[in-house]
Amino acid sequence: MINAMKLEQALETERQRFVRTHGKSQGLFESAKGHLLGGVPMNWMIRWAGPYPVFVKDAKGAHFTDVDGNEYIDFCLGDTGSMVGHAPEPAVRAISEAVKHGTTYMLPTEDAIYNGEELSRRFGMKYWQFTTSATDANRFVLRLAREVTSRKKILAFNWCYHGSVDETIATLDGNGNVIPKPGNTGPQVNPALTSKIIEWNDVEALENALRDEDVAAVLAEPVMTNIGIVHPIEGYHDALRRLTKKYGTLLIIDETHTISAGTGGYTKAFGLKPDAVTLGKTIASGIPTGAYGLSEEFGKMALDAIPERYTDIGGIGGTLAANALSMAAMKATLSEILTEEFYTRNIPMAKRYNDEVQALIEKYDLDWSTTSLGVRTEYWFRREAPLNGREAEAAIDEDLDRYMHLAMMNRGILMTPFHNMALITDGVSDEDIDYHTKMFEEIIKEIV
Ligand code: PMP
Repeated sequence: MINAMKLEQALETERQRFVRTHGKSQGLFESAKGHLLGGVPMNWMIRWAGPYPVFVKDAKGAHFTDVDGNEYIDFCLGDTGSMVGHAPEPAVRAISEAVKHGTTYMLPTEDAIYNGEELSRRFGMKYWQFTTSATDANRFVLRLAREVTSRKKILAFNWCYHGSVDETIATLDGNGNVIPKPGNTGPQVNPALTSKIIEWNDVEALENALRDEDVAAVLAEPVMTNIGIVHPIEGYHDALRRLTKKYGTLLIIDETHTISAGTGGYTKAFGLKPDAVTLGKTIASGIPTGAYGLSEEFGKMALDAIPERYTDIGGIGGTLAANALSMAAMKATLSEILTEEFYTRNIPMAKRYNDEVQALIEKYDLDWSTTSLGVRTEYWFRREAPLNGREAEAAIDEDLDRYMHLAMMNRGILMTPFHNMALITDGVSDEDIDYHTKMFEEIIKEIV
């Protein structure tokens, strides 16, 4: 059992330790406040467990150093943006070479052809397009889905996250009505007008939501990852495919995070047959890029739906999308880094991390559990795996969360913010896993 008083004290001790050992970061944060809104270049960089963010100096593989000279094992890896590790050699080579030849022209380069073919081989989708982020990939596929089906609504899952995609920044009130998610910043319209939100793993709710035949597309991560990992129950994906087909709704699978499962994400690993797949983050070794793949049928409808005259202003685009630099980085990543061997090496390491945490949870009889998906592994502050977003959200304990993150950071371990997730990549050594296990026990002992 966690002792609340001990937790409060331990959190304070960790806060003081953080301030003592992160003086330069504090100085930079103070000076950043002059011209960066809130002292950070991007709004959510404020949301770390310490009183201010750590400023990074250098990173390689699974490790980084901050401006104070503290060294870290990086289990956050940019929340998947760097899942292939920092500065992997083949990407560094390809990027350094590409940059000498100009980075963006609004014209295609040959690398894009390789990327389309390779993603098609991995995810089974026939036609591919590239964007500057996974958010954009989701936004554009949703537009296409509405356009080709002539339907207005999107269905997403309670406590999902798909980037800053308006239709999905919604939740359910106590009566099951769709409302803006807490913190939804200046929504253009009430998402109740654009979206249906249901709980993950609820087949009946899914059929009820699709029955009116007004839903253009279901947008789903194949395993929820953004409120912690919430796996589908047996048969849920079959139901998702069967019911979307039955009611003429397109099925979009967002593999941005679940690419942790294997080279073709969960889609390939579990033989899913969606109408579209979206991707981003790590597929170009951290060079901003996203991608969406469409089935042959959806692709042909999409092509017919967009008159050439309006391709530049129709709401799908971005002058930097598919730029030469990102295409070169993606080719290097797909061909040389994010390979079968990457997963063969790292999934067993993730399992080891997970097993060791689980053993300590049992040793200290904590009401916690572990779960994982390929190279992504996580612990929960509840004994049983949650079934859906509502249950997962209810298990969040902000103080405990802050303590685990801060205490780990003070010991040179960076966990993914917002939940207790670790990604395992090339460069994570056996010693790193052992060290994490040792520190996990050390910090748990302080609060039980
Ligand atoms: N899809 C999923 C499943 C995500 O988790 C995220 C970001 N966490 C996105 C899309 C958006 O990615 P980006 O912020 O890089 O656009």
